[in-house]
Amino acid sequence: MSQGFTLWFTGLSGAGKTTLTEAIVPELRARGVKIEVLDGDEVRTNLSKGLGFSKEDRDTNIRRIGYVARLLSRNGVGVIAAAISPYREIRDEVRASVEAEGVKFVEVFVKASLDTLVARDVKGLYKKAIAGEIKQFTGVSDPYEEPLNPEVLVSSDNETVAQSAATIIAKLEALGLVIPLAARAGGA
Ligand code: ADP
Repeated sequence: MSQGFTLWFTGLSGAGKTTLTEAIVPELRARGVKIEVLDGDEVRTNLSKGLGFSKEDRDTNIRRIGYVARLLSRNGVGVIAAAISPYREIRDEVRASVEAEGVKFVEVFVKASLDTLVARDVKGLYKKAIAGEIKQFTGVSDPYEEPLNPEVLVSSDNETVAQSAATIIAKLEALGLVIPLAARAGGA
């Protein structure tokens, strides 16, 4: 059985969590890794349907994602979680629960300035949030606590998707969680 892990993306809406997930999933599958994705938006339509954006509901949402990530990754699956996960304490709680299984937790901070995000406004949400039409919007009217020591930091302000994706894959290789393509081709 291959070694499972939890790759945990955190960052503001529109920073690039989903884009980077989509970029690295095929790369990881090509390296023979079994992958499951827990995407924040998708989780909120099923596993966490009915939860809102109060601190309590956000914490519950993240704990649920963490719970599923723990079950899968301890059974050899490479789990990618891509949710804003704004609170450091809850991210650290999830990290501890995954690490208690002897499974690596790799936190990826997808950083982008508010200026970039407002200009990008992929989902059209920042303009509404700034106009006060959406309450409790992370980064505008709700807190976001940056990771203090993420395993990986990528900056979508000034990196291409390919560059950020390569940084993440390189980290997984350096941690021994993913076998480099060249090594596989060399025949194991
Ligand atoms: P999130 O999932 O964090 O809400 P999305 O992935 O939906 O964010 O949107 C990120 C946007 O930023 C996309 O339009 C993507 O093309 C763009 N982008 C620019 N540079 C990068 C980068 N280095 N990494 C990820 N996304 C980037």
